[in-house]
Amino acid sequence: MYDMSFRYEVAHRPGGEGLFLCFSCGVCTATCPVAEVEEEFNPRRIIHQVLLGDRSVLASRTIWMCAACFRCVAHCPQGVEFANVLQVLREMAVEEGHVPLTWKQIIEDLDSRTQRLRRDVIASLWEKRAFTFPEYEDLWKERLEGGRHGENT
Ligand code: SF4
Ligand code: SF4
Repeated sequence: MYDMSFRYEVAHRPGGEGLFLCFSCGVCTATCPVAEVEEEFNPRRIIHQVLLGDRSVLASRTIWMCAACFRCVAHCPQGVEFANVLQVLREMAVEEGHVPLTWKQIIEDLDSRTQRLRRDVIASLWEKRAFTFPEYEDLWKERLEGGRHGENT
């Protein structure tokens, strides 16, 4: 069931203005680091759903997967600003009761913590010349060993 007013609702909100500029080239999906690891997440497809009037996208978990890196915004040839369109969809998803506001807040907090972790890892590597996060050592074991090896050569 398509709702042809849906795309206008999205485009009229701050952040959604570029929606109609999309010509479905797929550059956003090709450059998205989340799409690279999660095949269910496809920015081009999400825009297409909105343009078609497929309101069910608001109930989908895919609109919460974006990590707000803004690569899609930097690379889009049409200036659509997909990351901002996604923010509009998230706001509408909360307003229409598809997810509780607390989930939105948890995900925003997660994004903020992820950035803080990134900042702390970089500071640790540069300032202490060491990786000081034992809980993550397993993840980067080989690279850390390579780094130590590199330091000794
Ligand atoms: S949002 Fe931009 S990059 Fe993505 S499909 Fe549309 S025009 Fe292409
Ligand atoms: S802002 Fe979101 S959708 Fe855009 S490239 Fe980054 S993770 Fe992908």
